[in-house]
Amino acid sequence: MRSLLVLALLAQVTVIPRANPPTSAKDYPIRAVPLTSVRITDGFWGPKREINRTVTIPHIMQQNELTGRIDNFLKAAKKKPGPYQGQRYNDTDVYKVIEAASWSLASRPDPVLDKKVDELIGIVAAAQEPDGYLYTPRSVDPASPAPGAGPERWSWLHTSHELYDQGHMIEAAVAHYSATGKRTFLDVATKSADLMVKVFGPDKRRDVPGHEEVELALVKLYRVTGQQKYLDLAKFFLDERGQKHSVEHPQFEQGNRFFMYNDLAYRQDQAPVAQQTSAVGHAVRATYLYSAMTDIATMVGDGLDKVVDTLFDDVTEKKMYVTGGLGAEGRTEAFGAEYALPNRAYAETCASIGGMLWYQRMFLRDAKTSRYDALERTLYNGYLSGVSLSGDRFFYQNPLVSDGRVERSTYFDVACCPANLARLMAELPGLIYAQDDKTVYVNLFIGSEANLVVNGVKVKLTQTTDYPWSGDVTLRVDPERPVEVSFEIRIPEWTRNPTQSALYRFAQPAAERPAVAVSGKAVPLEPNATSAIVDGKWRKGDVVTLKLPMPVRRVLANDKVTEDAGKAAIQRGPILYALEAVDNGGSLKDVKIPPDTTLTSTFKPDLLGGVQVVTGKVGDRTVTAVPYYAWNNRGKGEMAVWIPY
Ligand SMILES: [Zn+2]
Repeated sequence: MRSLLVLALLAQVTVIPRANPPTSAKDYPIRAVPLTSVRITDGFWGPKREINRTVTIPHIMQQNELTGRIDNFLKAAKKKPGPYQGQRYNDTDVYKVIEAASWSLASRPDPVLDKKVDELIGIVAAAQEPDGYLYTPRSVDPASPAPGAGPERWSWLHTSHELYDQGHMIEAAVAHYSATGKRTFLDVATKSADLMVKVFGPDKRRDVPGHEEVELALVKLYRVTGQQKYLDLAKFFLDERGQKHSVEHPQFEQGNRFFMYNDLAYRQDQAPVAQQTSAVGHAVRATYLYSAMTDIATMVGDGLDKVVDTLFDDVTEKKMYVTGGLGAEGRTEAFGAEYALPNRAYAETCASIGGMLWYQRMFLRDAKTSRYDALERTLYNGYLSGVSLSGDRFFYQNPLVSDGRVERSTYFDVACCPANLARLMAELPGLIYAQDDKTVYVNLFIGSEANLVVNGVKVKLTQTTDYPWSGDVTLRVDPERPVEVSFEIRIPEWTRNPTQSALYRFAQPAAERPAVAVSGKAVPLEPNATSAIVDGKWRKGDVVTLKLPMPVRRVLANDKVTEDAGKAAIQRGPILYALEAVDNGGSLKDVKIPPDTTLTSTFKPDLLGGVQVVTGKVGDRTVTAVPYYAWNNRGKGEMAVWIPY
C-alpha cells in the first residue's frame, strides 16, 4: 500500500514507469527519495548540474563519436564497414552517457537531448544479435574479436568485460525507462539479461566477471521488472566469487596487464564474498562489488550482513584519502595496505563514484550517518575534482599533491571516468533525502524542493542554504494537512572533535556547537549528536533551522599514515583545501603553516566560480588555499593538500 501511495504521488510529479514492485524478497528498510521527486534549486550544485547538461554530456557524446565508440555499434549492425576500434569496454562509455542524459531528462525536459538519446538507443539496439547478445568488440568481427575479448562468447570473462558491458547497458536502460517511461532500451536490456540467465547458473556456465558491475545492474533490473530471475542471477555471480575458476588466459597485452588479470585479489576473486573482510584489489571493481553485496545482504540475507559493515569500516577507517578518494596503488588501480595512503595517490574518479553509490546503500540499511559522512567527504572533494569548472576536462586520477605536471584531459583512451561523473551529477537529487513510513532523513544540504508522502500525507519540503560555504540550513515543511513526521537531520562528522574516524582528526576542538531550532525555538542537541531528530505534528509553513558552525580547521592524519606525518590539511565545512602555486608566489617549496597560524576565510565571488578562500600570515608571507575540487583550473602548477607545519 505504501509503495502504491508513493507511486501515485510520483505520477503527478513526472512521468514514472509502472514498476512491478517486487514482493518475494526483503528490501531496504529505508528508501531513497527518488530523483524524480526532488528538484535542486541550489546555488552551488544548480549551476554545476546545468554545465553537466549543457557541456559535459554533449562533450562526451561528441568524443564517443570522434573516437569510434559509436561507429563500433554501427559496424556491429553492419551499417558501416571496418574493424572494431579501441578498448574492449568502450561500449560502456556510450551506455553511461545515455544513463547520464536520461537522469538529466528526469530533472529537466530537453527535447534535443531526448531525441539524441533515442537516436543512440536505436544505434545500440541495432547492434544486438538476435538472441540478445550485445558486445560490439566481438560482433563487429566474430572471427577476430578485439584484443582481450576471448575467442568465443563468455570465454575470457576475467578480461573481456563482456558482463561489465552488459551491466552498464542495463543500468542505462533502467535509467532511461525510469526517466522517460519509454521501453525501447529496457526491452534491449531484458533481452540481453534473458540470454545471461540462459547461459549462467548453478547448473550452467559457472564463472565470474573480471570487472564487477553486472551484479548491481541485475538488482536494478529486478526492481523495475519484478522478475526474480534477475535477482537470482545477481546472487549467483556473487556466490561464484572465490570458487577458483580457471584464471589462465593467453597473454594479449604486454606488461602489467597480464599480471593483473591472473591476480585473483585484483578482481576480488580470492575468496568467497562472505569471507572478504578486507578491501583489496582494483578499487572501482571493489566498490561495485560491495554495492551488490549490500543489495544482496539486504534483500536476500545470506550471511553477508556483517561483511559489508566490516568492509565499510576497513575502507573508511584505513584506506580512504581525506578527499574521499579510494585506491593508493597506481599500477593496479587498487587499494593499498592499511594506512598506506601516499599523496601521489591514484584515487580514480570512478572509485569515488562507486564508493558513494555503495555508502548510500549502506545508509538505507541502517540509517547510520557515518555512511553519509563518507559520501559527503567524497562528493565535495575527491569526486568533484574529477571535472573542470568548464565541464569538459577530466581527471582520471585525483592526486593530493602535484609537482606541476598533472592536468585534466578532454577525454581518455580508457574513458570510464567522464561519463561516470556525468551520471552521478545527474543522479544527485536522489542522494539528498531518504524516508520510511514516519521518518524523513535529511542527508545532504543542497537547496531543493522535495515532494514526499509521509504517514499517508503529501508533504512538500523546501531546503534553502548556501552550503558548502555557509552552514545555515532552513527546511520549510508544507504538509497538505497536519501530519506526524520525524525528521532526522544528519549532523556532519566535521562539526565534531574527536571525530568518529580513526583516520582523520581535527587539531583543535570545535569552539562552537551545531544548533537546531523549530520555528525559532531551540531544540536541545546532545554533544556529539550524529543527527538532530525533530518530531511532532507539522503544519504548513513550519520551519526547521540548522546552524553548522564552519570555522577553518586543521586536519591531522592517523600517525600510521607516514606520508602525512608532520603535516596538516585544511578543512572548512565539508570542503578540503589545497595550496596551488599560482596563489602562493609561483612555488610551494618551503611553504609551512605552523600550528599557531591564524587561518581565516573570505568568499571570493569572482574566483573559480565563487569560492571561499582560506588565507593565513606566515612570517611576511601570506599563504592562500582554495577548495581542492577547484584546483588545476588556472593552468598547470604545483599543488598540495597536506602542508608541513
Ligand atoms: Zn574511471
